[in-house]
This record gives sequence, C-alpha cells and structure tokens, in this order.
Amino acid sequence: MSFLDEPVGDMAGKVKNGEMRSTDLVEQSLQAIAQVNPKINAYVSVLDEYARRRAATIDTLPAREKARMPLCGIPVAVKDNICTKDLPTTCSSKMLQDFRPPYNATVIEALERAGAVMVGKTNLDEFAMGSSTENSALGPTHNPCKHGYIAGGSSGGSAAAVAADTVPLAVGSDTGGSIRQPSSHCGVVGMKPTYGRVSRYGLVAFASSLDQIGPLARDVRDAGLLLDILSVPDERDSTNAGRAFHHDPTRYSESLEGLTIGKPVEYFAEGLADEVRSSVEKTAEELKQTGAKIVDISLPNMHHAIAAYYIICTAEASSNLARYDGVKYGFRSKNARTLKEMYERTREEGFGAEVKRRVMLGTYVLSSGYYDAYYLKAAKVRTLIKRDFEEAFTRCDAILSPVTPTPAFKIGEKCDDPLQMYLTDIY
Ligand code: GLN
Repeated sequence: MSFLDEPVGDMAGKVKNGEMRSTDLVEQSLQAIAQVNPKINAYVSVLDEYARRRAATIDTLPAREKARMPLCGIPVAVKDNICTKDLPTTCSSKMLQDFRPPYNATVIEALERAGAVMVGKTNLDEFAMGSSTENSALGPTHNPCKHGYIAGGSSGGSAAAVAADTVPLAVGSDTGGSIRQPSSHCGVVGMKPTYGRVSRYGLVAFASSLDQIGPLARDVRDAGLLLDILSVPDERDSTNAGRAFHHDPTRYSESLEGLTIGKPVEYFAEGLADEVRSSVEKTAEELKQTGAKIVDISLPNMHHAIAAYYIICTAEASSNLARYDGVKYGFRSKNARTLKEMYERTREEGFGAEVKRRVMLGTYVLSSGYYDAYYLKAAKVRTLIKRDFEEAFTRCDAILSPVTPTPAFKIGEKCDDPLQMYLTDIY
C-alpha cells in the first residue's frame, strides 16, 4: 500500500491507534527514495539510520503521547539550508559540505514534537540562490514529471521529493519564489507564509528581510496542517510575529460563495507563455463555478519588482555570507600561505559562480556613495509595491496569478544567461 492515497491527518491517526506503524511508512519512503533518487537527485542526504531509529521510537511510545502528535510517524523531507543537529546541512555548497550544526532550527524542533520522521535533506540552488536547482554544487534536480527538465528552484529538491511520492510533506524556504516556483513546476502545493509567521531561527540566512520557511505538500489540506506545525511563536527570531496558523480541516470544503478574487491586469500582459495563460484562465473559470467572483485589479508598480528584489537580496546576501571566511566553521582552503590569502582562496574555492556574482553585486550596491542610490531606493520601491497590494486587498480577498512565465524548461537552457534566469522570477 502506498502512503500516497491518504491525507496525512488520517495516516497519522492510524499510527496513533496502532493500525499502522511508522516503521512501515518510513521503510516505504526510504525504498521510494532509493528507487528514484539516482534519477532525479532530489535528496542530497538520505538519513536511513536516523529515520529508522526514530520511527522505531515513535512506534513504542505510549498511546497518550502519540495522541499529542499531529504528524505521528509521518516521513518528511527538509531543505538542506535548515539546520539539523549533528546531521549534514550543506546548503548544496562546497563551503558547508562537512557542516553539521550543533543545534536544530525551530521548525525542526516543531516537527519532532509533532511526531514527524525526517528521512532526508533536499537539494537546492547553492544558499537558495537560483530558480532551477541548477546552481547546486551537488548537481541539478530533475523534474520527476519529465527527465532532463528543471524541477524549479531553489527548493527544487523538496518539490521533487513530494512530486515523486517519496514523502507526503516537505519543508522549503522562499525568499523570492523558491517554494512557489518549484511547486508549480512539479505540480504540488507550496506556499510562502507571510513574513514573520514561521521562525527563521536555524534557517541559513540568504536575504534576511525576505527569507521565510514554508510547507510543500500534495494538496492544500496537508499544506495547511504542516503550516500549523511550522508556525510556532519563537522569541529566538526577533522578526517572528508570534502568530500561529490554526489548521481547521473542516474549512477546506467550504464553498467560495462570497469570495472575491483579483486578477492583476499587469500579470497577463506580454511575456506570459500561452500554455501558462490558458491554464490560469481555466483555473479562474473553475473558481467562478465554485462561487467566487473574479475582478480585474491593478498592481501598477509591479514592473519594478525584479529590479528592487535583485538589489535587496544581493545586498543582504553579501552581508550574510561574509561569515564564510574559513575561520570558525565550514570549508577552508589548503592553498594559502597568509591570512589574507586564506580568506580569499576559501571564498574563491568554496562558493559557486552564482553566489560569487551575488556577493559582488551586493557589495557594489552597498558600497560607500551607492547605498542611497541602490539599496535605499529599492527599499522605497518595495514600499510602493506593498502599497499596491494593500490597495488591491481593499477590493479582493485573494489574488490569482501565474507563478512563472513559462513551464519548466530544459536543464542547461538558461544557465549561461543569468539575467534571463532572474526575469523568470517576475511573479
Ligand atoms: N529565484 C530567486 C532567486 O534566485 C529565488 C530565491 C529564493 O526564494 N530563495 O533569488
């Protein structure tokens, strides 16, 4: 029997009442990984031993303890930029190839309390910088629906892990699309929670004012359940809003009567592939039939979004990644004779091309005399974009939008043209 057929809540219920064993679910997951991972490269480490031990422990817990675990015995996959105590956390970078954090991220503690069993860490673009999981030092992830095509990025490993039925749930991170975009390319459900909803404590920082952890699942109900577990209030992240999301399984079947959905006119202009356009239009039609009202809205500053995003995220990345200097932890070059050379060669040898590009861009936009012209300006533009959304939400309850301008493309197709790749983040 495959765990695929059942909602996660039902499966956890069966483990709680003894109808199913976590050990069997985990064995099934590990088998599926062994079968598909050599083809798709969704996992950068498979935690066989750890997962088997943990499943066995869960199976022997007293019933009253299991009763408190909403994910009792359920296998999950976690993006490899989220810290897992004594277990590899590589960020798919040579810089952290041997790094084992001495602590768990808040979301990992939350998953443990909920009874989940982590079976593996998933592939990503190095330090979550990219839109295709091709910038991984450990090789690209292939789309499980079509070999040779990208899974999307940067949480491509997490999306592919769910799409290939190796786990029912995965955790990713989204700075500028990194959960939503691979979810869309792989045909699974993924969401970026509102900034502040999920603690970033233990998430390896890329662009701190945008980074957010979120769920990937096979359907909205399971994604809601996972978000509930991930969104614990946390004082260790000063930007945490302390507002949990409460999953109510009865609400997912409510009619959409009375709901107004906005369609931004700017999103359906030039540059959108016909097949994406028609699939979003079809969804709009279906939403109408279930009772929603569709209205046109406008986001007039949206054409500045990519420029503002790539200034803000590179600036913050250049600052966050300054810590990888070969001194305290991570990779250290063996080819240096002086301290200065050690810094330089460590960063030269430890980072891949895209990370270096962003560190250089970010250093430039933050350099003396340019701060006002770039970072500060981009921050102001971000406020204008935010106001567009606030205005839009006075007219509608939700916004319907494409996720990417084109369907998944071939691996290698856009690698030589970083600007082309950046433009795919437009939505
Ligand atoms: N494509 C975006 C980028 O390359 C996504 C990054 C992210 O959300 N982690 O910056």
